Amino acid sequence: MKELTINWHITEACNFKCTYCFAHWENKPCKREILHSSDDICMLLNELEKLPYLFPDKFDTIRLNLVGGETFLYRSAILNIIEEAKKRKFRLSAITNGSKLDPELNKIIADNFSIIGFSVDSISDTTNLAIGRKEKNVAIQIDELVKHIYEIRKYKPSIKLKINTVVNKLNHFEDLNSFIQETKPNKWKIFKMLPILPSSDPLKITDEQFHMFLERHQKHLDIISHENNDEMTETYLMIDPNGRFFQNGKNQEKYTYSLEIHKVGIETAFSQIRFDIDKFKQRYKK
Ligand code: SF4
Repeated sequence: MKELTINWHITEACNFKCTYCFAHWENKPCKREILHSSDDICMLLNELEKLPYLFPDKFDTIRLNLVGGETFLYRSAILNIIEEAKKRKFRLSAITNGSKLDPELNKIIADNFSIIGFSVDSISDTTNLAIGRKEKNVAIQIDELVKHIYEIRKYKPSIKLKINTVVNKLNHFEDLNSFIQETKPNKWKIFKMLPILPSSDPLKITDEQFHMFLERHQKHLDIISHENNDEMTETYLMIDPNGRFFQNGKNQEKYTYSLEIHKVGIETAFSQIRFDIDKFKQRYKK
């Protein structure tokens, strides 16, 4: 099955404040994010349903990857999105920081998602506090997060688990081997931090520091996928909380945007971004 993956950042809001968080969008055409409007959600998903037809014979199905901000911050909105996506037979996946999960959401994830990803940059409270992975000055509880992973797997052993880690100046020396051994993800995506915002510039690392992080974890080579900045440009289909395609092209510090997909239609919006289909297919083959 050839799957077209669309990353929809459903909200900018997050209970954490990571220094290098790239979930910030500018020139918003509307104050209200579309996840709060059932009509806008339906119109957006109706347009996305047509996307595979723009690539004849290349894709047969869509996977809607829900990301944030924190994806599970607004419970009723995410439940609505799941329901509408299922009506259109989209496969679903999500990335979460894990802090808002509970038994009810774990069951919903197990019942509806084929992949669940957790963003985990560190297992140290001190580092998580320094990064900003904290709420009311309490760092993300990694033990709790591991319990959620176990519970989701208990409900659905076949679910694919993904861990995303952003390597930066605050965690590049860490050893996450024990966490990976305990959670046994199917995939561990390791990113070198993209210094998109001026605030993240002091947390930049060198290629050598990034490679040392990878080497320290090479016993997990079979599940690791890592991407450098070049591989990350023009190869993601990304939608912002206002329903616009956005991307960060080569040598561009700021995102560029299409018009709102649910207002101008998929063809017009898609023609307003650059998209490298060969690199895209390459990365999902990895
Ligand atoms: S947890 Fe993710 S979305 Fe939230 S602030 Fe951190 S990087 Fe941004």
